[in-house]
Amino acid sequence: MKVLVIGGGGREHALVWKLRQSPRVQEVFCLPGNGGICEEATCVPGDPKNLASLLAAAHQIHPDITVVGPELPLSLGVVDEFSRRGLRIFGPTQKAAQLETSKSFAKEFMQRHQIPTAHYAVCSSEDELRKSLGLFSTPVVVKADGLAAGKGVVVAATKEEAATAAQDMFNGRLLGTPVLHVVLEEFLQGEELSFLVLSDGERITPLLPSQDHKRVGEGDTGANTGGMGAYSTDALLEEGMAEWLVNHIARPVVEGMKSEGAEYRGILYCGLMMTARGPMVLEFNCRFGDPETQAVLMRLDSDLLDAIEASVDGRVSDGDFKWSSDASCCVVVASGGYPGSFLSGKQISGLDRAGQMAKVKVFHAGTSKRDGVFYTSGGRVLGVTARAPRLEEAISRAYEAARLISFEDMYYRKDIGARALRAPK
Ligand code: AMP
Repeated sequence: MKVLVIGGGGREHALVWKLRQSPRVQEVFCLPGNGGICEEATCVPGDPKNLASLLAAAHQIHPDITVVGPELPLSLGVVDEFSRRGLRIFGPTQKAAQLETSKSFAKEFMQRHQIPTAHYAVCSSEDELRKSLGLFSTPVVVKADGLAAGKGVVVAATKEEAATAAQDMFNGRLLGTPVLHVVLEEFLQGEELSFLVLSDGERITPLLPSQDHKRVGEGDTGANTGGMGAYSTDALLEEGMAEWLVNHIARPVVEGMKSEGAEYRGILYCGLMMTARGPMVLEFNCRFGDPETQAVLMRLDSDLLDAIEASVDGRVSDGDFKWSSDASCCVVVASGGYPGSFLSGKQISGLDRAGQMAKVKVFHAGTSKRDGVFYTSGGRVLGVTARAPRLEEAISRAYEAARLISFEDMYYRKDIGARALRAPK
């Protein structure tokens, strides 16, 4: 089979790497890919933000199936457009992807279907927002409606700060474009957890739990990023919790979407806060996470293509994934300055030695290759990922590999997974 993967980050490298292991896959294409992906797939130029470009590539390649990495093409309706032309594609339709693309839709949907989430108010003007602020205590969370690549959420310590953040969202100063709605949300405390399920619109099966690290600095300080690292271990979920999350969150979402005429197929990513009142949904994503995918796929022992086809063909079952009991850890190696401004084009060394380590895979996120040499080309550059029977070993192996790699101004957090090691067993 020919598979086309859309995207060009660390998540897509992990998808390409895993799909290539399927005995049924003859060739993997990736649009646009990156330096590391081009070693393992045929990279196709194109713009994932442009449906015409994606359709043109599909007409040229004739893939048997297309797998979409990032949310943007899903929000533009790539699944609808491909399906209309008889092209098999994995992921939700534009309507179903609203669970991620519209925070107000997601909150109202959760309320309609009694899915546990923080108290909230959807506001469509600054006036309305100031009035609604009276209903919340501080800190209070302010969220811009729409896709914001992690930049649309502000945890405000005071109501004045919340009002200013909302003003910047309404007038476009924060995100570059004005938003029509701002969601105010009760501040929740607890451990965050990423819980993903595979859905075919009706049936679901869970993936492994993982935890990512959004803040740029150690000890979860500093600016929010796309993700500085992730780890996955069975110990993240207490016994019976996966079942609870399936029964009280994931299944009601999939059933609710079906009952509202927007069947949800693909990966449903539930971003949760494990609070004293129980698990609560912070957000939904309509695709695999980055860098959680790197950590989670490192533990997948079965054929990813089989699972993806089960979703597309409407036959998802609990046998779709076979997982290793190993733990895994992905350390994101970034360009100094990220998520602010940073310089690209730095020569990367040590990739071969790191990649030769047992049970280590170096996923490329922002790299390019010229004359046999890799250079940095983005904020997040690599996802150095390792697996081992115990989380502690997976973490130290990932760091051992990361230390073999170097480029000017390279930065990575030194505490990925550390919280799990400190937590009582
Ligand atoms: P979201 O895009 O909604 O997942 O928000 C991004 C990040 O903001 C989350 O990963 C949390 O760390 C934080 N966050 C979002 N909503 C809340 C909330 N209600 N209470 C506390 N933190 C939150």
